Amino acid sequence: MAENLMEKLVALCKRRGFIYPGSEIYGGLGGTWDYGPVGSLLKKNLKDLWWKEMVQLRNDIVGVDAAIMMNPKAWEASGHVEAFTDPLVECKICHQRFRADKPEEIALHEKSHKDVRIEWTEPQQFNLLVKSYLGVLEGKQSEIFLRGEITNGVHVNFRNVVDSTRVKIPFGIAQIGKAFRNEITPGNFTFRSREFEQMEVQFYIKPEQNEGKKWFEYWKKNRMDFYLSLGMAKENLRFRDHADNERAHYAKAATDIEYKAPFGWSEFMGIHHRGDWDLSRHQKYSGKDMTYKDPVSGESYIPWDIETSAGVDRSILFLLLDAYTEEEKRIVMKLSPKIAPYKVAVFPLLANKEELVGKAREIYESLRKNFMTAWDDRGNIGKRYLAQDEIGTPWCVTVDFQTLEDGMVTVRDRDTAQQTRVKIGELKDYFVSHLI
Ligand SMILES: [Zn+2]
Repeated sequence: MAENLMEKLVALCKRRGFIYPGSEIYGGLGGTWDYGPVGSLLKKNLKDLWWKEMVQLRNDIVGVDAAIMMNPKAWEASGHVEAFTDPLVECKICHQRFRADKPEEIALHEKSHKDVRIEWTEPQQFNLLVKSYLGVLEGKQSEIFLRGEITNGVHVNFRNVVDSTRVKIPFGIAQIGKAFRNEITPGNFTFRSREFEQMEVQFYIKPEQNEGKKWFEYWKKNRMDFYLSLGMAKENLRFRDHADNERAHYAKAATDIEYKAPFGWSEFMGIHHRGDWDLSRHQKYSGKDMTYKDPVSGESYIPWDIETSAGVDRSILFLLLDAYTEEEKRIVMKLSPKIAPYKVAVFPLLANKEELVGKAREIYESLRKNFMTAWDDRGNIGKRYLAQDEIGTPWCVTVDFQTLEDGMVTVRDRDTAQQTRVKIGELKDYFVSHLI
């Protein structure tokens, strides 16, 4: 069933325009995915909601949007050039490469050679940074990296943000953007991709043990609550603390939030206590002062950073898996209305009755000013409901003959399939009240 669920979801994503394989007509490009008309809306809604909660509704977080390409020194400072590696082994028969720390994938590959015993090369450290070149000459001089995580673009602007705004510690800097990793074996649909998007807050605090503990716990709860508020099932989510030997090179403490995916419990966001690693390294490598001067006490220090880092694509994948519901006669994507691609769909009961189509069109044009609204006049109502259920549209509005007499429409709820009559003039408020 679990394997099956992944296959069903991948098929639905393609069929309904959530996610397609990247450059598919050329046979694809491993580890890349394209979001279709419905998927791009879902992704945008998730990012917008995240930004609203982090930046718009808080006094202590501001946003930035830093460049993907950075001075290569920034990656030396952050330790990525040296330590951002996975151990790689190569099958001596077919020369395919795998991660030495993924025994299940190695076992699977060994089976693929049937009775032949595979010899593997010794593990080598393989750097995950994606290289590129700027300027007219290829070579060391012009070599740059596409960012392997979005964090660095925030830290290098710490000074700028402190000097150009009124932020005071504790405060955070939020950012959403793309990152790139030369994953050896991308897989599990969008889970392990080579190009992906992250949403992160670097939250700067006073360098004190108690402050560190307090904010680490605060952000753990805050982030778990975010995913629960999107309707994800509690039993499918858990925290997992990193053991001492698996923490990233910068982390003092780290916890993942994991989802119970069909391919096992899997990390899609982390809360990391990075200490003063980033700022002190950037101070050392750039020679620029990264200390913060407390305006009240006059103390100077390099702040600590509590980071929350979420994969946008992984979040989307797990929100989709969690929302996927099979009922007797339909598949329903029970996505939270807050992030559903379309909020409303409008139908005329019959496509060949001008009065119905005209009225429905009028409602459609009015609602779309406030909500992403779908229009459908194909086939019968039942089929239109099924199509909207599969893309997770929470409400369908139907204009029927009675509408022309009493000015009311039928609003059908996605999850319960219950129908309510609502006055046309009250539709907007009806949806707004359900979306907050
Ligand atoms: Zn092989």
